[in-house]
Amino acid sequence: MLLEGKIAVVTGGTRGIGYEIVRKYLANGAKVVLFGSRQETVDKALAQLKEENADWEAEGMWPKLTDAAEVEKAVLEIKEKYGRIDILVNNAGISQSTPLYNYTPEEFDKVIDLNVRALFYTILPTAKIMKEQGGGCILNTSSMVSISGQPAGVGYPTSKFAVNGMTISLARELAKDHIRVNAVAPGVTKTDMVASLPQQVVERISAQIPLGRPGEPEEVANAFLYLASDMASYVTGEILSVDGASRA
Ligand code: NAD
Repeated sequence: MLLEGKIAVVTGGTRGIGYEIVRKYLANGAKVVLFGSRQETVDKALAQLKEENADWEAEGMWPKLTDAAEVEKAVLEIKEKYGRIDILVNNAGISQSTPLYNYTPEEFDKVIDLNVRALFYTILPTAKIMKEQGGGCILNTSSMVSISGQPAGVGYPTSKFAVNGMTISLARELAKDHIRVNAVAPGVTKTDMVASLPQQVVERISAQIPLGRPGEPEEVANAFLYLASDMASYVTGEILSVDGASRA
């Protein structure tokens, strides 16, 4: 198994792409702590996982990701319990497609707070732990819009360009501590995030995908599995597109 004995933390692990990453990691021998926004959704996800395989070792937490102190406390609790953190996946994120003239500063801040600031908050205490234990792997969730931009909802592509910048920069900074930092940039993927977009928007985007269909969450999770595994031991600072060539 690719992640035998590894300790992984996955934010936004209760549904969509994050849930598939959790499943993939568990199926490959990792112990996973999934972060969700509420206890109810965390409990529901854990119950579903238990039902699928009673041997899988998963637990859940729900720190407020936009509160640096709460996140640090949760990370230190995990270190206390398991002794280490091998893999951190920053997957939680929000999207919107509000036209600029209807935008409010509050809406912009909300996207940046979760999609950018929260990554810094999880990475900071975790990287210290990884350095101390001799290495680790940090994975961020970018998007194809980090390459192509999008024609509305400017906060979202702005946040994902920032994710790429953080990923590439930290890959360079943390390489000496044997911490690899990569990102996965999904294209349109069949999750609640896409279901909440107007149907016309989804159809217009899907029609432009060279592979002719949106991606499945599992197809995106496969990239997170590869990057977290020793198969990617010489890969760092990479933004791996999983988008059916949509960005082109
Ligand atoms: P989703 O809406 O299905 O899931 C989002 C996850 O983030 C959920 O687990 C949710 O609990 C968590 N989350 C949302 N707000 C939160 C908050 N305030 N605090 C803590 N957790 C919160 O979305 P998804 O499509 O699975 O998206 C996952 C990631 O993939 C996001 O970073 C998103 O930007 C990225 N992405 C998605 C697509 C797509 O087409 N679905 C494309 C490109 C990138």
